[in-house]
Formats: sequence, structure tokens, C-alpha cells
Amino acid sequence: MTRMRDCIFCRIIEGNLPASRVYEDETLIAIEDVHPQAPTHLLIIPRQHLATAQDFDSSHRQLIGSVFLAAKRLAEERGVAEQGYRVVLNCNRAGGQTVFHVHFHLLAGRPMRWPPG
Ligand code: 5GP
Ligand code: ZN
Repeated sequence: MTRMRDCIFCRIIEGNLPASRVYEDETLIAIEDVHPQAPTHLLIIPRQHLATAQDFDSSHRQLIGSVFLAAKRLAEERGVAEQGYRVVLNCNRAGGQTVFHVHFHLLAGRPMRWPPG
């Protein structure tokens, strides 16, 4: 699979940068966010390097579905499914994206405000 040498998430996926992995399968990995914004803050990261959600096309339907099923299972494992959690995708700069390898945040363990900032 194509890797971007200067992409931190590609380097984590390859094992060339340390990260606390909590889940992995053939299509994605989940790690602890290094700068957590909630008691549970995981990043669900497709192995395939896609810079933003705007790179998704119909060939990624299964991948996108796998992300939400992983989020559901991880929330159950963490014991936060019933109290509630949030899955966030930031797309491009004004959307809050800082790492340009598409990823989903799983946040839980505190009440989530609405609307998000
Ligand atoms: P974004 O702002 O792109 O939606 O989210 C990027 C997230 O990646 C941020 O929450 C940030 O804390 C996290 N992050 C950035 N660099 C690293 C890293 O090297 N390791 C881990 N585990 N998380 C990172
Ligand atoms: Zn990448």
C-alpha cells in the first residue's frame, strides 16, 4: 500500500513512529491521541494514505463503514457506549484538520458540548 514518507500517520502505521495502538486490522488502526481532548480520545486511521475526506470515492464505502463499526466496538470495550461518545472527522484547515492523512476521532468520557467549537 502506498505510504507517504513525510506523513506521521503513515510512519505510525509502518511502525516507524511510536504510538499506543489499541486496535488494528487489515484496513485500519486505532491509537491513543497524543494530546487527548477527553478521557477517551482515540484516532481511527485507515491504513491507506488519503489526505482528506475529499479523497473518498465509491471504492472506499467498505473502508468508511469499517471505521464506524470499529468506533462502535471500541466504545463498547472502553465502557462508554451507553453513556455516549462522539466520532469526528475534521476536513481541511477550516474544518480543524492538522494531520493530512484522513482519520476519525473517537471522543468520550465527558459530556460533549453542542455545537462543537
Ligand atoms: P486533526 O486536527 O487533523 O483532526 O487531528 C490530528 C490529531 O492527531 C490531533 O488530535 C493530534 O493530537 C493527533 N496527533 C498529532 N500527532 C500525533 C502523533 O504523533 N501521535 C499521536 N498518537 N497523535 C498525534
Ligand atoms: Zn499517510
